[in-house]
Amino acid sequence: MEGYGEDQIFWSESKKGNFTVKSAYDALSKEIKGEDDQIWSCVWRWNGPQIIRVFLWLVLHNRLKTKAEISRRHVHLDSSCDRCGDGDENTLHVLRDCMVARRFWYAILPIHQRQYFFFLNLKDWMSYNLTNADQVGSDLSWNIFFGVAIWRLWFWRNKFLFHGMTWDCATMISEVKIKATEFQRISTTPMGMNNRRVAKWICWSPPFWPWCKLNTDGAAKKTGEASAGGLIRDHNGAWVAGFGMNIGSCSVTVAEFWGLYQGLNIAWQNGIRWLQVEVDSICILHLVTTPMITTNELSPLIKSIKDLISRSWRIIINHVYREANFAADFLANHALSFPLGLHLFPNPPPGIIAYLQHDMYGVGYPRFVFP
Ligand SMILES: [Zn+2]
Repeated sequence: MEGYGEDQIFWSESKKGNFTVKSAYDALSKEIKGEDDQIWSCVWRWNGPQIIRVFLWLVLHNRLKTKAEISRRHVHLDSSCDRCGDGDENTLHVLRDCMVARRFWYAILPIHQRQYFFFLNLKDWMSYNLTNADQVGSDLSWNIFFGVAIWRLWFWRNKFLFHGMTWDCATMISEVKIKATEFQRISTTPMGMNNRRVAKWICWSPPFWPWCKLNTDGAAKKTGEASAGGLIRDHNGAWVAGFGMNIGSCSVTVAEFWGLYQGLNIAWQNGIRWLQVEVDSICILHLVTTPMITTNELSPLIKSIKDLISRSWRIIINHVYREANFAADFLANHALSFPLGLHLFPNPPPGIIAYLQHDMYGVGYPRFVFP
């Protein structure tokens, strides 16, 4: 246009409009820094315990001591995965691509998201999932579930590597859901209320007539052997039946399921038709009272428990704190010294009397819980 001179090219990244290498470098690094800032902030803004936030930070820095990472540091070590035999056990392998992790993610991810989920590189994968506010189930955010899930996948990997321990997929998912829901609940509680636990006096109490009460539990040795135990008492707190079962090599979760199964069976055979059941594992309660999430090696046992529950009797299953389940805990531990198999106790075995008396007299134990 007349009076404004000819159009000229200006470099917008410098004040004078002329191009310099320094201004180009600053512009580029600003861009890179911006992207990084976004990834880091999604870690620090993640709504969960600090210990998991630090873990997420380590994952993003690729600092997990995976076998691939250790061998990269020139420590002579075979870098293949001990669980699936894959050649390179790196961070993404442990948390996503390993057979064990894949089974976990396949059981929870909608089909249309799988391809994208398994395609992303580590940074994109983390940022995509940590900013994804979709729901898992009714009211749990995906980003909370994801953070807790990868933290536990690393924990389970270590437990397998160093102690030979394994978990089935349904238990893993249930545990992550329970923990993530609890973390989400705490993070949405008004400020200042988060750490306000209150002392609660926990004790066993007898059921009202005509109910009987079954308490069951599982126990495990460090060597991998596990056992279960349980007892049935009436409305006066009097002994009806008890049992212990040495199962042999299995996880404590499997043992707890066996305890519940045997306890229900014995109650039914004793003609009890009004039964309250108490277990101290939320996980067990969740798995036997909700529809089957996925099929795995535990499914037949869970199905047998559900079949027993659905017989024509009145049955209520509750979670109790372990302070109200000491008698069952004693029997489960007691059974570890028995030969393999089920052992019935028509009368209380020696050693349990003190626990029974505590329960009869309502002796309580303090526990700090959220109000
Ligand atoms: Zn693997």
